[in-house]
Amino acid sequence: MSYNLIVLGGGPGGYTSALRGAALGAKVALVEKAELGGLCLNKGCIPTKTYYHASFLKEKIKKMPKWGISITEEGFNLEKVTERKELVISTLKKGIEFLLKGRKVDVYKGEGIFLNPGQVKVGDQVLEGENILIATGTYAAFPAALTPNGENILSSDDMLNLRELPASLLVVGAGVLGLEFASIYRSFGSEVSVVEIMPQILPQEDPLIAEEIRKLLTRQGIKFHTGSTLMEMKAKDGKTLVEFLTPSGMERLEVDKVLIATGRKPLVPQGAQEIGLALDPWGMISIKEDLSTNIQGIYAAGDVSYKIQLAHIATHMGLCATENALLKRSKPVDLRIIPRVTYIHPPLALTGLTLKEATEAGIKARTVKVLWTAVGMALIEESRDGFCSFTVEEGTEKIIGVQILGHEAPNLISEGSVIVQEGLTLHKLSEIIHPHPTLGEIYFEAAEAGRGLGLHTL
Ligand SMILES: Cc1cc2nc3c(=O)[nH]c(=O)nc-3n(C[C@H](O)[C@H](O)[C@H](O)COP(=O)(O)OP(=O)(O)OC[C@H]3O[C@@H](n4cnc5c(N)ncnc54)[C@H](O)[C@@H]3O)c2cc1C
Repeated sequence: MSYNLIVLGGGPGGYTSALRGAALGAKVALVEKAELGGLCLNKGCIPTKTYYHASFLKEKIKKMPKWGISITEEGFNLEKVTERKELVISTLKKGIEFLLKGRKVDVYKGEGIFLNPGQVKVGDQVLEGENILIATGTYAAFPAALTPNGENILSSDDMLNLRELPASLLVVGAGVLGLEFASIYRSFGSEVSVVEIMPQILPQEDPLIAEEIRKLLTRQGIKFHTGSTLMEMKAKDGKTLVEFLTPSGMERLEVDKVLIATGRKPLVPQGAQEIGLALDPWGMISIKEDLSTNIQGIYAAGDVSYKIQLAHIATHMGLCATENALLKRSKPVDLRIIPRVTYIHPPLALTGLTLKEATEAGIKARTVKVLWTAVGMALIEESRDGFCSFTVEEGTEKIIGVQILGHEAPNLISEGSVIVQEGLTLHKLSEIIHPHPTLGEIYFEAAEAGRGLGLHTL
């Protein structure tokens, strides 16, 4: 069979590209060796956020008596949350199947293996492609001493199949993944501790933001051990004994479950290196600005080829690569402004540059920060923890980054991306009318505060 475009991988980078290719009139094949929707739909974004939503409601229930509504939390049932997660996944997967069928994309179930630069084998079929897009994602990578066993030592996949709430959970790794599970399970009612080898939680993030989050999550009862190395894990009477070296000496903990929340590695298709496809020093597929590789007609997108591993980036890259391939153009992908969210309670969302990133890029900038006390809706919703801050370029007064810690931050951050992408100044933003009472008013308050004219801040 011959195609204008063969897409390897049915995750958010791959299936969206197949749909776009077909919408542009191309004959498209999509090859998926496991499940349509990829990591994001089956084991990542969607299932974890189904749990997050349940934990969010649990947090709300705790506050409700103050609002005149009493609901008990006793009815919490992890089994039901897990069942609902499965329903959400299967519904969305059917949606993808429906769209692919509607756009007449040929879907091949099986592993795509390169035979030649324009030839891929799936089972015993050989597909010929004028263009091939690799969007094969990653696999979970564990240090040898920390390999999950699916019983007491768990991966994120295992966490999504727990039927009983662990009374105690130790999370190894305080990156986004580790903190999200820590926050969700703390809200569900587990005792949660986190061990992180680096001196701060969210090691890649601005230290001031990370410190604020640490304080907030500590108040919620999560115990952090940063600068600490896991030394030993031993099973004992259904529990796990864990030893770790902290800056002040050896500590021991007895927990029900341990989650290993460490990184992932790129999953390069078989045969790719044999046909000469170049990889970068981290084992990712080397891409040029237009997402082409060193082999003509082969493109790559998403986690297999980019260091910031997020579903919306995979989609953004996939669409750009597909259009470049099919429209015979070389438009560079624009990854300057990447919104990113950490689903803790309350969630953190950022876009553009933090002050740390601006300083590293040699940009003179300052931070403007306002608290939720400036916004009435935050009191109505009882969600005053957190802040909104802007990174503002000195001289131009342009907002080059937005950071929001607070309820609705994941939805609010899209306005931040528009502000940063369009290069709005504090003054320009302050001229935009924000409806009242809404959490979105925080943008107006921060713009005014940045100009020294704060309305509900001093
Ligand atoms: C627990 C967890 C939570 C996450 N939460 C979020 C979140 O909230 N927001 C967010 O933006 N990101 C989140 N992510 C990251 C997100 O899931 C990934 O960035 C995203 O799925 C990457 O998309 P992709 O298309 O590049 O790869 P993937 O989604 O990994 O898809 C790749 C697909 O290719 C298939 N494949 C691999 N090799 C072959 C082959 N040779 N032939 C055929 N098929 C093949 C795989 O089976 C897979 O289905 C999370 C990740 C994890 C682990």
